[in-house]
Amino acid sequence: MDWLVQAAYFISAILFIFGLKQMSSPVTARRGIIWAGLGMVVATAVTFVHPQIHGNYIWIILAMVVSSGLAWWSGRRVAMTDMPQMIAIYNGLGGGAAAAIAAVELVKHHEMPLIVQILAVLGALIGTIAFSGSTIAFAKLQGIMRKTFRFSGQQIVNLGLFALTALIGAWIAFSGTEYSGFVLLIFFVLALAFGVMMTLPIGGADMPVVISLFNALTGLAVGLEGYVLQNPAMMIAGIVVGSAGTLLTQLMAKAMNRPISNVLFSNFGDTGSTEGSDEVEGTLKPIEAPDVAAMMGFADKVIIVPGYGMAVAQAQHKIWELTKLLQERDVDVKFAIHPVAGRMPGHMNVLLAEAGVPYDIIYDLDEINEEFATANVALVIGANDVVNPVARSNPESPIYGMPILNADKAENVIVIKRGKGAGFSGIENHLFYADNTRMLYGDAQAMVGELISAIKEF
Ligand code: NDP
Repeated sequence: MDWLVQAAYFISAILFIFGLKQMSSPVTARRGIIWAGLGMVVATAVTFVHPQIHGNYIWIILAMVVSSGLAWWSGRRVAMTDMPQMIAIYNGLGGGAAAAIAAVELVKHHEMPLIVQILAVLGALIGTIAFSGSTIAFAKLQGIMRKTFRFSGQQIVNLGLFALTALIGAWIAFSGTEYSGFVLLIFFVLALAFGVMMTLPIGGADMPVVISLFNALTGLAVGLEGYVLQNPAMMIAGIVVGSAGTLLTQLMAKAMNRPISNVLFSNFGDTGSTEGSDEVEGTLKPIEAPDVAAMMGFADKVIIVPGYGMAVAQAQHKIWELTKLLQERDVDVKFAIHPVAGRMPGHMNVLLAEAGVPYDIIYDLDEINEEFATANVALVIGANDVVNPVARSNPESPIYGMPILNADKAENVIVIKRGKGAGFSGIENHLFYADNTRMLYGDAQAMVGELISAIKEF
């Protein structure tokens, strides 16, 4: 049966890589998920004929039924806006599973070649940190716990905790079968504590980067434990997730203009803090929907900037309807997407694709930023941090240095939001007070609906 297992692992590896490749474009991403999922089904199904599996089928089936049932149930009912925390918890469970495999291998106390033992301990360390860290990320994003928790000397405590964990890990890795179960327990407890401690002080707008980092760590842990078990499907899946997660982490950190070290050790995005805020000049100037409709209906170029509020309001379908009406009037309409708009990478792209907005009018930050200066109207729908000019102007601001969409450069800026709610980073937005900005207060879907009605009446 070994040939069947190896062939199945080979096929799943191809499916994983093929699936990942397809995920690189929104056009094929949905298909990519299905291919990769198929790979997982093949790799899981072949477990039943794996030569190292003796009996225990009832347990395996029970675990599969319970876990897939839970995943199906939670996956179907999760709101798009809660997707980041769902990714965080699923990803954490992956890290935890890798750590559990390592624990089983190490608890067995059997002779392992030195290199295998080192890799098992490394995978255990990384997987455990990813598990407890992701759980904290989940709790923060779900609003179960305060966004940040800091005390003076925290970094030294964290460094000490990590050093101690690594030291005990090294003892386990190099001591053959000499270590006791108690030492192993201490090692796992310390690794869990470190994952919690390193995530507690990180808050606000840095959370997506941290989740992506834990995702990369989980992949690495799975890959390492795949080596320990001599399971090529696990190795390849782990490497694929690890490298994709690393690339995503780098891209996101670049989008926020922050090195990873800064993400992990700075106080960026301290929601609720007034640190770094400054006096805002100007006033908030409301406007009514018919006036906005006239402004847009007679414009040459309109750039739409969607943000988290568009996702909350599920306004994407109405926005596409508005876009078509404007296009019929020969208005050049483009969408500007910030890499961290919304609450997960690609959040806006997914919603716009769902509504049927063609990809050729959707632009990334780098592609569109110069064009704001030539736009008659920048329509900011439920976006806040990603258009906040203090990121350019105020070195004291917690979002200073993050590249933003230059909506403020447009001739007119219309901001649709419900009230004075802050963005994710919790700071004031100077764009809203600018001379060329008008506020259209209300729920994004309702307001875009009013714009549609008003344009239809022209
Ligand atoms: P923000 O979270 O900065 O702002 C969203 C705005 O939408 C709020 O000011 C709110 O104002 C408004 N809003 C909320 N609900 C509605 C509604 N129903 N109708 C109209 N407006 C509404 O969003 P951005 O997209 O600009 O920025 C994303 C932020 O999230 C960044 O700081 C980013 O770093 C962070 N982040 C990004 C992740 C990612 O991977 N993309 C993941 C996690 C965090 P009001 O209450 O007044 O309506």
